[in-house]
Amino acid sequence: MTITDTCIYTARYLVSGNAPPVEAGAFFAHAGKIAAIGTLTELKTSYPHVKVVDFDDALMVPLLVNAHTHLELTDFPQWTSECGGAESPENFVDWILHLISVKRKLKIEQFAPSLQHGIEQSIAAGTGAVGDILAYHPARSGYGDSSLLGNLYLETLGQDPAMVSKLKAGLAEALEDKGCGAVKLGVSPHSPYTLSANYLRDTYLYCRQHNLRCTTHLAEAVEEVEFVEKGSGDFARRFYPYIGWEGYITTGSGLRPVEYLRQQGGLFPQNLLVHGVQLNDAEIDTLAAEKMSLVLCPRSNATLKVGKAPAKKLLDAGVRLALGTDSLASCDSLSIWDEMAFAHKWFAGDLDAPTLFGLATSNGAKVLGVDGAVGSLALGKDASFQVLQPQTAVAVNEVFDYFVSSACSSTVKHVYHRGVLQ
Ligand SMILES: [Zn+2]
Repeated sequence: MTITDTCIYTARYLVSGNAPPVEAGAFFAHAGKIAAIGTLTELKTSYPHVKVVDFDDALMVPLLVNAHTHLELTDFPQWTSECGGAESPENFVDWILHLISVKRKLKIEQFAPSLQHGIEQSIAAGTGAVGDILAYHPARSGYGDSSLLGNLYLETLGQDPAMVSKLKAGLAEALEDKGCGAVKLGVSPHSPYTLSANYLRDTYLYCRQHNLRCTTHLAEAVEEVEFVEKGSGDFARRFYPYIGWEGYITTGSGLRPVEYLRQQGGLFPQNLLVHGVQLNDAEIDTLAAEKMSLVLCPRSNATLKVGKAPAKKLLDAGVRLALGTDSLASCDSLSIWDEMAFAHKWFAGDLDAPTLFGLATSNGAKVLGVDGAVGSLALGKDASFQVLQPQTAVAVNEVFDYFVSSACSSTVKHVYHRGVLQ
């Protein structure tokens, strides 16, 4: 690591996130913060004796935000091949059963190094903040030395009342931990189909009482919608029996996922929703009215063949959207640049390049509550940025197209967190 405490950074383009790309843009960094921003000429005039770090024909860009991931599963592809490999899933339930069968063969010691690999890969990919979900809570100490911002959501799920009271006590204790680096601890009640109604309600109540951020997978697959509403389908036939939960199958709530979540007290802005692939128009309006935010994970949705989120309708309705890679159990990289490139094609023009860049930067920072520090390059924010070195020159009016090109992710050359080269 190199600490450059006070200097001016400049490059061919500065893309602050708040304005069009600035040619020969620059900012003055002091004590890890942006103390002034403008053109190189302006800053050299204001600070004539300050060292200039010139990245030449590169681009300086804010760090990206991966608003939904499970970094403890970063070694999943390796674990799968050690188990003899797996065919690509035919449907969502196939994939869940595969995930559980691989996890059952692991030793708990395997999660900490896997999380560490996830943190390293995220930083190398130009990510500065994460919405990370952790099922094996003791691995949280892996964040102790990390410079990543965002939220580390401790996952919880369960049906059996006796087990649930133990889980609640363990969760409350883990949330007291102060040794998790720069991330804030929160809670992830996994989904409406993996917590009993009582436990889901208790968890949301606890989060609201303690002002904790939380995150929930919602309306991801058709199987979820059927199970929540009617208690039937592949979840009842295959998933619940596989994990010994047959005794907890009900006749369903009679509600679609969003209304069901409302009934359990889960519609509040601090509960970051994930996926939303199956949302209908009325549910989209409800999420907008309740000021909910939603993370789209298009590569994961494509891998698991669950469908396409109604991104344009969500955007038009005013639901705040962000982007996530999900885990390497359903996606092939932790790069949000890769996610943007895929999303651009997947949503076929519904989300244009500047919009996707906004989802991956300022929106991501807002949904995680770290927009005071990252999400754009602005006065008073962290001197946290990445330097992209394109293979061939990019014209000023092509910068955003470049950001959604598949070439972009491999051109992350330097990454700085709070003025420190990573
Ligand atoms: Zn997930």
